Amino acid sequence: MPKSVLVINCGSSSIKFALLLEDQDFRIHGLAENLGTPEARIKGVTMGNEPIDISIPNADHRQALEVGLERLANYKPDAIGHRIVHGGTITKAELITDDIIQTIREATPLAPLHNPAHLVGIEATQRLFPDLPQVAVFDTAFHQTMPAHAYRYALPKYLYTHHNVRRYGFHGTSHAYVSERGSELAGSFKKGGWLTAHLGNGSSTCAIWNGQSVDTSMGLTPLEGVVMGTRSGDVDPSIHSFLASNLGWDIYKIDKMLNSQSGLLGLSDLSNDMRTLIEASEQGNEDATLAIEVFCYRLAKSLAALSCGLPQLNGLFFTGGIGENSAFIREKTLAYLPHFGFNLSKEANDSLKRGTEGRIDAGTGPQIWVVPTDEEGRIAKETASVVQNEVNAFLAKKSEAVSA
Ligand code: ADP
Repeated sequence: MPKSVLVINCGSSSIKFALLLEDQDFRIHGLAENLGTPEARIKGVTMGNEPIDISIPNADHRQALEVGLERLANYKPDAIGHRIVHGGTITKAELITDDIIQTIREATPLAPLHNPAHLVGIEATQRLFPDLPQVAVFDTAFHQTMPAHAYRYALPKYLYTHHNVRRYGFHGTSHAYVSERGSELAGSFKKGGWLTAHLGNGSSTCAIWNGQSVDTSMGLTPLEGVVMGTRSGDVDPSIHSFLASNLGWDIYKIDKMLNSQSGLLGLSDLSNDMRTLIEASEQGNEDATLAIEVFCYRLAKSLAALSCGLPQLNGLFFTGGIGENSAFIREKTLAYLPHFGFNLSKEANDSLKRGTEGRIDAGTGPQIWVVPTDEEGRIAKETASVVQNEVNAFLAKKSEAVSA
């Protein structure tokens, strides 16, 4: 089994990387941000918990990776795991081969900001670490177990058969990790029916039955579903023709508005950041108060809808920056779901400290847990397991050849 895995999350304007060492809680982290601008820099911590802060003016993805990864080369990673947003219909993590690169390229129209950046990351790491196995871990893969009645849109069939228009779902690595860890904490590892609410800048919900995703709130793209930092979540699709006919907007302007100017930011006209909105609401800002209410109501609606995918409801897991840290948002959301029997313990909810996992229901009704997500840890684990399987397959072939 690989002992150290380098995890790379190459996004559209930033790159996160982390080195995870087996049997060590400590991780080396880095974040390259503001790429392509004079303010581009890499920040992070090294092995001795020493801070790193390197200015890389105007560096692009490739240059940032070279600077960041050359430093990590001293730690000799055994394998590299890449977070890939869209893998089309790929069902699991895969060793990166020319065919997998081609599949990631073909899924680019479905994730135009993310997949090209991932390909730059793969190309750079292949050049810097030509001898290391590299694995692609897909955000979409966990949701490939959804039944057709959950992933099909009520659109003409040829759009699905000829153009892959269907629901894919995202945040799969987080929903997979949190539902596994949460069900383990609840004493029913990968058993029963659970809902997860991943609430960060991007947010999504998921219904999981016996460890498998059966429905999720995001769809063809990460725009569908609940209210997010700057993304609208569900709107009437006729908004496109309404804005085109009445305001003369083109498709790019509408898309930008829905993805970057909506959600909490659009509703509040103040910020996409939940902490800022809670503070503003406490000081009497009515737009911030409404943005929070819409967020919680739509989230509760999404959880209620997804529960239809579960034969039985064991409980709910909160995760992501908002889900892990805001007792206020958890309480407000659950206040919309009393008919499901959720019975929050105010004391347990309020006392849960940042980054800790714990149960917050009062002992009756479906369970409610906070489970901090660990996407990096999950990517490292899946990477190590794919590499180990490849080694095992190679050894099995070799021994077959010897005995033949
Ligand atoms: P990303 O999706 O970018 O990984 P995070 O999961 O870190 O984002 O979540 C960021 C969100 O979490 C922000 O809206 C931030 O305000 C919110 N958040 C973090 N801590 C708190 C808190 N104590 N109370 C409310 N919201 C919080």
